[in-house]
Amino acid sequence: MTSVMEIYQLLPKTNCKQCGKSTCMAFAVDLLARKLKVDDCLPMVNNTKYSSDYDKLNKLITPVSGVTETGLIVHEDKCIGCGNCVVACPVNVAADPFGAGSGKAPTSDKVIFKVEDGIVKAKNVQECRRFGENKTICVACIDTCPTKAIEFV
Ligand code: SF4
Ligand code: SF4
Ligand code: SF4
Repeated sequence: MTSVMEIYQLLPKTNCKQCGKSTCMAFAVDLLARKLKVDDCLPMVNNTKYSSDYDKLNKLITPVSGVTETGLIVHEDKCIGCGNCVVACPVNVAADPFGAGSGKAPTSDKVIFKVEDGIVKAKNVQECRRFGENKTICVACIDTCPTKAIEFV
């Protein structure tokens, strides 16, 4: 998973504030949270001395195919449909405590994980605890997956 430090290392580190943030580190945090884009750092766009780092940064931050807008990816080829992530995700438990959150058939359309035809599907990904105002470093789905099918990029 991409870290703030990895992003920061590729930035100009001049704290010039042209992106609207007070430091490059603050920019790195917002870039990782997908609140800003690489192109919001104007020196990286306009100054050729940063072009190699610009390319690396875009590669680091650009979602690969199948990635949701929050960076969550379910590698369907690895998923065995065990349902561990379905009952482990705190959003599932809160949205559907007696259905998906208890390992039963989902009774709410607000859940994130749902097993369909033996493979987990991720929906409502914007509700993930890793995003939004009160974000936490939740790893419940990643940790409980026996096949490493879930990843955040
Ligand atoms: S515009 Fe770029 S170099 Fe300037 S503070 Fe923001 S991230 Fe740093
Ligand atoms: S990181 Fe946590 S809240 Fe987000 S999908 Fe995984 S288990 Fe759910
Ligand atoms: S925990 Fe992993 S293998 Fe099990 S359903 Fe979720 S993604 Fe699939």
